[in-house]
Amino acid sequence: MKSDDSGYATRLLINGRLQAGQGASESILNAATGTEITPVLGASLEQVDDAVGAARAAFDEWSRTPPRDRGARLLKLADHLEANATTYAALESENTGKPYLAVLNDELPVIADVFRFFAGAARTLCGPLAGEYIAGHTSMVRRDPVGVVASIAPWNYPLLMAAWKLAPSLAGGNTVILKPSEQTPLTALRLAQALVDMFPPGVVNIVCGRGEPVGAALSSHPLVQMVSLTGDVATGQKILAAAASNIKRTHLELGGKAPVIVLDDADIESVVDGIRTFGFYNAGQDCTAACRMYVGAGIYERVVADLTSAVKTIRVGHQREKDVEMGPLISGPHRDRVAAFVTRAALAPHVEVTTGGKVRPGHGFFYEPTIVAGATQSDEIVRYEVFGPVVSVTRFSEVEEAVSWANDSDYGLASSVWTRDVSFALQIAARLRYGCTWINTHFTLVNEMPHGGLKSSGYGKDMSVYALEDYTVPRHVMIKMATAR
Ligand code: NAD
Repeated sequence: MKSDDSGYATRLLINGRLQAGQGASESILNAATGTEITPVLGASLEQVDDAVGAARAAFDEWSRTPPRDRGARLLKLADHLEANATTYAALESENTGKPYLAVLNDELPVIADVFRFFAGAARTLCGPLAGEYIAGHTSMVRRDPVGVVASIAPWNYPLLMAAWKLAPSLAGGNTVILKPSEQTPLTALRLAQALVDMFPPGVVNIVCGRGEPVGAALSSHPLVQMVSLTGDVATGQKILAAAASNIKRTHLELGGKAPVIVLDDADIESVVDGIRTFGFYNAGQDCTAACRMYVGAGIYERVVADLTSAVKTIRVGHQREKDVEMGPLISGPHRDRVAAFVTRAALAPHVEVTTGGKVRPGHGFFYEPTIVAGATQSDEIVRYEVFGPVVSVTRFSEVEEAVSWANDSDYGLASSVWTRDVSFALQIAARLRYGCTWINTHFTLVNEMPHGGLKSSGYGKDMSVYALEDYTVPRHVMIKMATAR
């Protein structure tokens, strides 16, 4: 793969051509050192308009391309990602600060599989059987693409989010303008180089820039038929307002504050092991992170003690350090926001920060893995998304109390229940108002199953055939039959 003058791919992809951005310059940082990797020029408003125009022009042919042929291109893309996995992993890790091996071994295989899943799934879309619902008239249902889709991605899993957005949308026959986060555009821009030869001009466009003005221009553009966002609740609200202009469809994957209900009969070792992993993976910058524990009074003290000891062993460090498990947060302002949450939580007399609670001195945006024990349901740390390596632990006496506290949240993305009594866990799962409930695990996603929320966490589904349904519309075609002979 070729690089631009900076040594990094920085050009936008518009109408099948790579071109330098003509908008504002953004300094792209290495989160582990805080130093600049390269500047990236964002799109001007004219370039946004060109990208949307190109996507509109490409739509008629792409939407009529047979699913098998659309899928073949997605399979090529998956092969490309697999063949260049080390390049993408290095770039992603350099920008976000994630441990290199975690990106290479955990993320890249899943990303390639997203494209493979949708390559096949595109060929399975069907409507119900045709039938006669008025005498002499036959009705059938088609599933057709929505049109031009603007996809707006966050910074926490930049390439994975690009895959979640591109694969179902393209598989369904839409044309796309992808806007990566202004903080983490480097893997998407590298991908842009490969996409030039893989898709007809205009089918996929990649533009960079901040939410204002680039994201806002996309979400209010009259030729865009659907906006897909993974991001903050407040951003979702702005997109909904912008979408009203021409009644766009929206696909919103917003924040989370996952409750973890641990019953007295749970296997403490697997709880501790699980939360050490699922609460701190990606430095807790994950909308499904196991960050809000409710633990039965019978095992509360032991869970807090064992979890504290386990969390103290998480190896924090730079991307390529041996055995590193957790990297920095994405930026200085985000690190300060996380630190402020913990500082405020620690002011309450009933709260004990049993480990962590400090910014790591030196370069980069590191924050220590932190346990906030003794938190109560009304505490800010229990109610708001921190999006960092911070897990709160709250004691409960009655299961009813735990279930109602778990549901007492504006968010509704992910949850988990830990107990040896799986049939009881299933009864609790049925009552939890979350898009996903795991039993005796947390965080594990598979491409065959839907991911998405309820309540303020949004309503779009990623992954699975449900995503393909979100990016297509059922249409009714009716035929009036000739008079029967
Ligand atoms: P963000 O909302 O600040 O930014 C997300 C994207 O929206 C970026 O590309 C940004 O440029 C763009 N944007 C910002 N303002 C915009 C506007 N007015 N119009 C159009 N686009 C705009 O979120 P973030 O800080 O990048 O990501 C963190 C958030 O994302 C957290 O709240 C997290 O929970 C959420 N998230 C959710 C999921 C999920 O699957 N539900 C997954 C990952 C992250």
